[in-house]
Amino acid sequence: MYEPYPVPELAQEHKKFRYSSLWTFAKQDLRQLLFLLLIAGLVGIGVGYFWVFIFIALSLFFVLQLHSLYLVNEWISNRPYDVPPNLDGIWGALLFNVYRAQRQERIVQAEMVGLIDRAQSSLVALAEAVVLIDELHQIEWWNPAAEKLLGIQPLDRGRNILTILRQPSFIEYFNHIDQAPDGLKMKSSAFEDHYVQVKLTRFGGESRLLVAYDVTRMHNLEEMRKDFVDNISHELRTPLTVLSGYIETFTDQEELNPRWKRAFDQMQSQTRRMNALVNDLLLLSRLESNKQIAKNQIIEMPSLMNQLFDDAQAYNVDYHHTLNLDIDSHCDLIGSDMELASAFSNLITNAIKYTPKGGTITMGWHDDGEHGIFTVEDTGIGIDPKHLPRLTERFYRVDSARSRQTGGTGLGLAIVKHVLMQHSAYLEIESKENKGSIFKVIFPKERLYQMSE
Ligand code: ADP
Repeated sequence: MYEPYPVPELAQEHKKFRYSSLWTFAKQDLRQLLFLLLIAGLVGIGVGYFWVFIFIALSLFFVLQLHSLYLVNEWISNRPYDVPPNLDGIWGALLFNVYRAQRQERIVQAEMVGLIDRAQSSLVALAEAVVLIDELHQIEWWNPAAEKLLGIQPLDRGRNILTILRQPSFIEYFNHIDQAPDGLKMKSSAFEDHYVQVKLTRFGGESRLLVAYDVTRMHNLEEMRKDFVDNISHELRTPLTVLSGYIETFTDQEELNPRWKRAFDQMQSQTRRMNALVNDLLLLSRLESNKQIAKNQIIEMPSLMNQLFDDAQAYNVDYHHTLNLDIDSHCDLIGSDMELASAFSNLITNAIKYTPKGGTITMGWHDDGEHGIFTVEDTGIGIDPKHLPRLTERFYRVDSARSRQTGGTGLGLAIVKHVLMQHSAYLEIESKENKGSIFKVIFPKERLYQMSE
């Protein structure tokens, strides 16, 4: 929970601070005036010039007041931090109150400066880079870690951050902070072969706080993991091909003993599963490495949808579902045809697999002018909402036994997620247990091609 920073005690004291009552001091002035008037009155009566002496007394009082006013002004203008001149009466009180208020203010200020210093020195000590960027995108302040990780130099004060961190991915992130709540991983511009995770936060209107930290170790581990999975999948491919070739030859032999036949059938189905697994792992690793994917092909959606429909019908022979195709858009897609076909096909086979025999599966392609929407709707077993957030994780299954039984690899939706990420698209799932599910793939406008009538 957020705890507000405690206001320093003196600052609180300051609010309770009581100024001396002016009346107490005004009484001193009154006494002085009365005294002067009394003396002047007596002398005036004695010498017979009462009003003249009263006038002199009033003038004297006025001069004394002017003198005090002069001293007050002189102190405030020239030496406000020195101890004020010692004055009686109302001016003395005024000086004293001003001086006391000022001292309190200075103590509070010193505490605040101390606090700021402490906050700043803790930022300086941080291993994470911290950069303050003003509303004009200029660098205001940074800590030493920012010099090391991001290459910011003393001369860069006041320079536009986008002229220093010039990677297109950073510029994109800087302009659309909200679209990447986890920040951005990018190559360090100062450190060869180093990677930093950058996170921007808006504050005070359009100012931004940049925090970056070194994630090279994590990046390297992740790369090692990807290479390992990629290599092992490649290595498994050849022995699997040999095995399945022999198994197929044996299974096809007519004079095979029925006991052996059953064993060979099982071996065949298991090698098929392993093959599917290896192929899915290779596809995932290709998607993750972001290589060899041409994302700018124009994909004719009616023909792709018909192709998917035909494949679904072939897959459907054992399930006897009613399959529907619903195309209600003239838009085509811009992307990678192989990858998108594979993602759509995963969603369709899932719908077929996870729907009890005789259900209805509808695949659709629509657009609402802003988005292209590919949908697969089934009347199947549905998914408990608690599983939805984790569904696209590798090997996450709601019911492992059922998934294996249906030949699932547990990688289908992870592949879908990666393909969609490559196309700036996202997946929406609506599902009710024992009623069915709708999987929607939503593409942004930039991915739609031409609106032919
Ligand atoms: P699998 O190879 O196990 O099907 P996926 O990644 O394709 O792996 O799917 C993950 C899990 O999501 C599945 O195991 C299944 O439990 C659930 N699932 C996916 N699609 C559907 C669907 N249309 N209806 C119900 N459950 C589904």
